Amino acid sequence: MSLRDDDDLSWYARRAARACVEPGAEPEPERVERVTALLTLLRAAGVRGDAASMTLFTRGLPPGCRSCLAGRGSNLYVTGLCTRDCFFCFNQKPRKDELVVHGIPVDDPSRAPEIIERFGLRSVGLSGGEPLLRPERVLAVLKALKAMAHPPRVDLYTNGDLADENLLRRLKGAGLDAVRFDAAARGYDLAPVRLARRFFDEVAVEIPVIPDDREKLERMITELDALGVPYLNLHELFLCADNSARVLAEGARPKDAAQPAHLTWRPTARSLECALELLLSAAQRCLTLSVYLCSCGTQETISRRGLARRRRAPAVAA
Ligand code: SF4
Repeated sequence: MSLRDDDDLSWYARRAARACVEPGAEPEPERVERVTALLTLLRAAGVRGDAASMTLFTRGLPPGCRSCLAGRGSNLYVTGLCTRDCFFCFNQKPRKDELVVHGIPVDDPSRAPEIIERFGLRSVGLSGGEPLLRPERVLAVLKALKAMAHPPRVDLYTNGDLADENLLRRLKGAGLDAVRFDAAARGYDLAPVRLARRFFDEVAVEIPVIPDDREKLERMITELDALGVPYLNLHELFLCADNSARVLAEGARPKDAAQPAHLTWRPTARSLECALELLLSAAQRCLTLSVYLCSCGTQETISRRGLARRRRAPAVAA
């Protein structure tokens, strides 16, 4: 179902509202009304996407997300080590300094192309931990991927702590397509984003939506639009084994919705609703910035598609 259709949006609103209450409770009527109004306004503002999974965007999808949505994207963990210790971090603890390609631990970056090719992947996100703690490993993987006969698109996910001018220049020279910054890890400090704009046309910010940071998020959206940053990706704040104690301690509560069948995490209440408000705000006032909501429902859809593709692929030796 697309937000462009003329269908009644109330089913989606009830579903979203139910997902914004304490476990076992019924959604508050005011919240149902609020989400219905938000979806109606989003549609009127030209927001597009899939309302059933809450996969919505204002102007356009980031190029790296298109293959991912088709189940043809993958994360390549450069290292589990990090410069930060964010309360929402879902990385496995204790952290390990290992390279993992599409879920397969490997001892050498030169193994990456073989795995990417076998699974027919078209986009790769180099992530961590903080991948730039291992810059030579990042560059070795990047060069190996870009030397493939049909090289995939490669995005780098970083908190920006180590993104200096010299390293950004080397990454650009090695063929990196885009950099995505987790600005929430640095209290929404956009200094690394500004620096990266000097080297890359495509720079994005990708963050979990922390509802208590709403005002800071609005200010960040204004700043990103003024900087000419093309994309902001929003995720729902979620609970998993490696962050639940700290996320709950910050005041978040799990959604009332059932545990997603294909995921081992659970979305929190209020984050989706806050994300919808931010989408609307951006749709109404941004001149160039496109905001994309990649919700837990989106992740579940991607996971299902990726799983089907993985089952069809030939086995890969570890
Ligand atoms: S910067 Fe990213 S990987 Fe590092 S602690 Fe924060 S969320 Fe985790």
